[in-house]
Amino acid sequence: MRRKLAAGNWKMNGLRADLAEIEAISAAMGLSPDPAARAEVLLCPPSTLLMNAADIAQGRIAIGGQNCHRLPFGPHTGDISGPMLIDAGASHVILGHSERRMDHRETDAKVREKALYAHSIGLVTVICLGETAEDHDLGQTVRIVGRHLQHSLPEDATAANTVVAYEPIWAIGSGKTPTPAQIAEVHGFMRTQLIERFGAEGEGMRLLYGGSVKPGNAAEIFAVPEVDGALVGGASLTARDFLPIVEALE
Ligand code: 13P
Repeated sequence: MRRKLAAGNWKMNGLRADLAEIEAISAAMGLSPDPAARAEVLLCPPSTLLMNAADIAQGRIAIGGQNCHRLPFGPHTGDISGPMLIDAGASHVILGHSERRMDHRETDAKVREKALYAHSIGLVTVICLGETAEDHDLGQTVRIVGRHLQHSLPEDATAANTVVAYEPIWAIGSGKTPTPAQIAEVHGFMRTQLIERFGAEGEGMRLLYGGSVKPGNAAEIFAVPEVDGALVGGASLTARDFLPIVEALE
C-alpha cells in the first residue's frame, strides 16, 4: 500500500509571518491519534524559512527544500546544497520543477545528477515532470512524460527515496486542470514505465498530480487511479486551503 502524500510547494512565497500557516497545518496533523494511518504531509517553504518551519513542524509534517545543487559545497553563489537542507531540518527536496527547468535551464540530465546526490545523503526527492501547452495540444503528452521519466529519474530510485510529480505546465497556476481521464492516462503510463524499469520499487513509488489543485477539485483528482496525492502550489500557502486538500486525500 502506498501512503498518500499531500505536498505543498511554496515557491518564492513566504515571509516569517507566514510561519503561522505552517504552525496551523502542523497542529492539525498532530491531532490524530494514529498519524501513520493518515496521509503524509510535506511542506516546502523557501530556504529562508526552512529552519523555522522544521522547528515548528516537530516531525508532525515533513519539511523539504525546493531545489539543491549536485555538489555538497563550493563556489556556487546563491545555490543551496543537500547537506544544508538536511542541516536546516529538511527530509525532502523538490527537483526538476518546470519553473527551474525554465528559469535556470535545468535539463533532465542535471535533475538526474542532483537526484543521485540527494539520495546518497538520504534526502527523499520529489521529481517533477510534465508537458507544455504546445506539446499537450500536439498530443505529445505521453511521449514528453516518458522522456522526462526515463532521463530525470536516476537508476538508484526506489519507492522510499523517490516521489514523482506529474505537473502539466499549462495547468500550473492557471486554474486549468486535465480531465480525470487525461490524468488517468498519464499516471497509468508512468506506473507501467516505472514497473518496467524498477520492478516492485516502481510499483511502490508515489505518483503525485500537480497543477491548480484546489479544495474544490481535490476529491475528483484523488479518485483517479494511480494518483497517490498532490503537489500543491498556491493552495498550500494557507491552512484554510491546504487542510481540506489533505482531508480529501484521507
Ligand atoms: P499551483 O497549484 O499553484 O497550480 O502550482 C502547482 C505547482 O507548480 C506545484 O509545484
